[in-house]
Amino acid sequence: MENYLMISGIQHYAFCKRQWALIHIENQWAENALTVQGLLMHEKAHSDTTEIKDGKIIARGLHIASHKLKVTGICDVVEFHQDENGISLFNYKGSYTPIPVEYKKGRPKEHNADRLQLCSQAICLEEMLLTEIPKGYLFYGEPHRRTEVIFSSALRSEVNATFEEMRALYKRGHVPKVKKTPKCTACSLKDTCLPDLDNRPSASSYLKHELFR
Ligand code: SF4
Repeated sequence: MENYLMISGIQHYAFCKRQWALIHIENQWAENALTVQGLLMHEKAHSDTTEIKDGKIIARGLHIASHKLKVTGICDVVEFHQDENGISLFNYKGSYTPIPVEYKKGRPKEHNADRLQLCSQAICLEEMLLTEIPKGYLFYGEPHRRTEVIFSSALRSEVNATFEEMRALYKRGHVPKVKKTPKCTACSLKDTCLPDLDNRPSASSYLKHELFR
């Protein structure tokens, strides 16, 4: 889907607009311990299977899109809870309401990045399945439990406004300037974005210096 934005980008954008632009406009990416932990959690969640547990249908690695928002992505997990006001699903008896669940490393954060990503997934599922989704869950590695997220009209408006801003930057190919904040220390792109934060020599230059002096 040409020119569709990645849903996962909204969490990068909410964390730091420059980080999002470096990844999604300039295609730069760097692993650090935090991103590797996150990838491992997502690999487990994205194993692309469906099972029935405690009366719920659990779908992993579901591909989603919204043509209204022009965004696309993958849900870690979508649980289909039995609900007499829900929707019918092909091959399953009864009716169900979809509930997205997103897995995150670390602790719940003060900023809205994870809630925006989850709400974007719900908006896609609503458009695809012609239903309404009132809430979802964020599962954090610490303290290893779920946090409920209500998809309020304020959160939905923030999703729309944020994707509009992102699309405008994307069209212009604009990468915002560096703004150093305490968040930079934990940023996976800090060495690319702010090389002066880490002035240690690289392993290769250290070896060259030691071997050929
Ligand atoms: S190092 Fe700081 S300014 Fe640069 S992308 Fe990361 S958070 Fe943003």
